Amino acid sequence: MPLNPSTSAPSPDDAPRPFAKQRTTPARTKRWFLAIGIAALALALATGGYVAATYRFTHPSPTARVFVRPEAARGLVETSVVWRVETKRPEYALTFDDGPDPRWTPQVLRMLAAHHAHATFFMLGDEAQANPGLVRQVVAAGNEVAIHGWTHAKLTFMSTPQIQQALGLTSRTLMAAGAPKPVLFRPTYGRIDSPGLGVASADGLTVVMWSHHITGSTPARDRAQIDKTASPGMIVLAHDGRTEPNAQMMTQINGLLGDLENRGLTSVTVSQLMTDSTRDSR
Ligand SMILES: [Zn+2]
Repeated sequence: MPLNPSTSAPSPDDAPRPFAKQRTTPARTKRWFLAIGIAALALALATGGYVAATYRFTHPSPTARVFVRPEAARGLVETSVVWRVETKRPEYALTFDDGPDPRWTPQVLRMLAAHHAHATFFMLGDEAQANPGLVRQVVAAGNEVAIHGWTHAKLTFMSTPQIQQALGLTSRTLMAAGAPKPVLFRPTYGRIDSPGLGVASADGLTVVMWSHHITGSTPARDRAQIDKTASPGMIVLAHDGRTEPNAQMMTQINGLLGDLENRGLTSVTVSQLMTDSTRDSR
């Protein structure tokens, strides 16, 4: 006898419906399906949670690293990370990364000279090795030469010895080209974790980030934004090498130098900005 006559009773006019019986499910079977579903869901959640937890503890992100303990060190072990400087002087610091570059670095030097301004150049060691004459020109014009990296590799994917080697080699290459010993370091992509900070500390380097930037993709918009928010002590990121620079960007940087000059703001090197800082004299 059918459990549900309304759906399974054959009508005299209809052909037999072989699947009609499957449209109804006994209440007991429904409960079983529900129970199995809940159990499967619970198992999936538990398994997922376990896998996630295991992954979290055994596969930390590339930046979840530590620097080796400086057990043999004596005295203070520290480094600073600077985004901007506090100063009462009408100064800011324009900075250029990824050079020296035979096409763009001379152009930047001419712009700076025309505005009686100075900048800090965070250089790549391999570019400095290929263009030592440009390093000398940057220094001779009163600018600061600092470390960006040997190549543009991400620090967070390099081991501590690799970072030590890259920064040490870049420092020696810059000095061999005529620069004073670099004291500032800007990590590529602005990305740094504990090993990079540890090496900076061991090498006596201050890590310099930035508070403003002017890019190659939207230089006019970036210049307008800097015009709107500029204040003494700001550190402006720009590029004189690799893929970022272009003619429009240089035009906007030149305009920006003029805009800020008209407001009495002068670009100095980052080290000068930090020396003039009022942070420690309050
Ligand atoms: Zn860079």
